[in-house]
Amino acid sequence: MSPPPDPLLDALRACVGAPYVLAPDAPPAELEPYERDWRGRQRGRARAVVRPGNTAEVVAVVRACAAAGAAIVPQGGNTGLVLGGVPDPSGTEVLLCTRRLNRIRALDAANLTLTLEAGCVLQTAQQAAADAGLWLPLSLASEGSCTIGGNLATNAGGTQVLRFGNARDLCLGLEVVCPSGEVWHGLGGLRKDNTGYDLRHLYIGSEGTLGILTAATLKLQPQAAAQGCAWVGVPSLQAALDLLALAQRQLGPGLSGFELMGQLALQLVAQHFPELRPPLWPHWPYCVLIELSESAAPEQAQALVHSRLQALLQTALEQGCAADAVLAETLAQAQRLWHMRECIPLAQAQEGLNAKHDISLPISRIPAFCAEAEALLAQALPGARLVNFGHLGDGNLHYNVQCPTGADAAAFLRQHEARINALVFDCVQRHGGSISAEHGIGTLRAATLPRYKDAQALALMRQIKQALDPLGLLNPGRVLVRA
Ligand SMILES: Cc1cc2nc3c(=O)[nH]c(=O)nc-3n(C[C@H](O)[C@H](O)[C@H](O)COP(=O)(O)OP(=O)(O)OC[C@H]3O[C@@H](n4cnc5c(N)ncnc54)[C@H](O)[C@@H]3O)c2cc1C
Repeated sequence: MSPPPDPLLDALRACVGAPYVLAPDAPPAELEPYERDWRGRQRGRARAVVRPGNTAEVVAVVRACAAAGAAIVPQGGNTGLVLGGVPDPSGTEVLLCTRRLNRIRALDAANLTLTLEAGCVLQTAQQAAADAGLWLPLSLASEGSCTIGGNLATNAGGTQVLRFGNARDLCLGLEVVCPSGEVWHGLGGLRKDNTGYDLRHLYIGSEGTLGILTAATLKLQPQAAAQGCAWVGVPSLQAALDLLALAQRQLGPGLSGFELMGQLALQLVAQHFPELRPPLWPHWPYCVLIELSESAAPEQAQALVHSRLQALLQTALEQGCAADAVLAETLAQAQRLWHMRECIPLAQAQEGLNAKHDISLPISRIPAFCAEAEALLAQALPGARLVNFGHLGDGNLHYNVQCPTGADAAAFLRQHEARINALVFDCVQRHGGSISAEHGIGTLRAATLPRYKDAQALALMRQIKQALDPLGLLNPGRVLVRA
């Protein structure tokens, strides 16, 4: 017997038009991109997938769902790594995809701002800025698919945080559809506005639990006149930290990237992308990618970048915090080095499921944390492989544990993931760190959060959720477990 017709589906079709609503009996191949998470860890089931094309349609959808008491899961590019933007398996949640909200609304070159809709893909936003001779300094390996709304909802980090901060630091204004269907018109290009509580910061990083972001105003920068990078082999983690301190002193604010790549992370790149051949691998336990951006007059900038990086490498080799180094001679070479770094998560995905930890620590604690966690893991799970890489300049490691070579990754995770997580996160806590640096909490970490988060902070978060979404319609169970 087929299930009874769902009146909400007709209501949603009336809001956005029938072509933009998928019912649960749509072909699985059409539903899968919305229902399965990027890592393939969860295949949920949506009551409907709805794709509004403008803010008014988002309002109509939110009101229709509220009237039916249906929970809404906002989704942008579905590249999130903590199961925040996919429906659960209950078949009761409506998936609201923002990707049709993809218009650039305004670029104000004199104010250095870009106002655009939340479903714009990050790369499209970067290009819009570049077309105007400006720069949007937000860059992630998923930038070809992730959206501005998703970046802000997760307060994404990426490779430019060292100089320009997280997505939060780049956002000057928001337009948000509240769970009641009211719209907060908070767009604007002000760098100073002390007129009460800054709601923008409440919504940024709220992972779709407080409102649906429909548009944003982002800060731009003048385009760097030249960028260059160096790939450095370092003899130890402490040497990588010494190199960071040296680069900060010697390069000053021009230092725009400082990425760490462990030997095993690069081995996976070499294995799954053999055409890439990472330099200096496997001779050193870690390699570091250093980026310098200069805004001097264009005709001098490239030469300046090159000579400043060269001088840095010379000092680093003399002081012993670098063991060997490669300096990109051309823009194409620099892009190739970045590409190798960005391929690490893709190579890991090809290697199979792993226990991922997106952690942050005071930079000074990183060597002690790594030594302790590595020893504990080796003792608890002999043969488990540690894939350690990340944004060292921000104190952010992707500290991932892969099953022993040849083992069944899924079975390994089923058996050991909870133990591995507890071991790593307890160690993070002992060293004053955070269990989520940039990916967020989603459902993956919601049950874990209370163990590591200040109890009063959690209580305040619950009060905010209750005040802004009293019916609990937006992304229930994400960030905060259901009461
Ligand atoms: C290969 C790869 C590399 C990555 N590298 C990084 C990295 O360096 N740094 C980093 O921070 N992250 C990284 N990520 C994680 C992810 O890409 C980012 O978090 C990205 O910002 C998510 O954007 P999205 O549009 O795909 O969001 P989604 O995955 O669709 O959603 C993520 C969360 O945001 C909510 N959401 C999405 N859109 C909205 C909206 N308009 N309004 C309200 N809530 C919304 C969802 O409900 C969900 O909770 C990476 C992911 C991959 C796959």
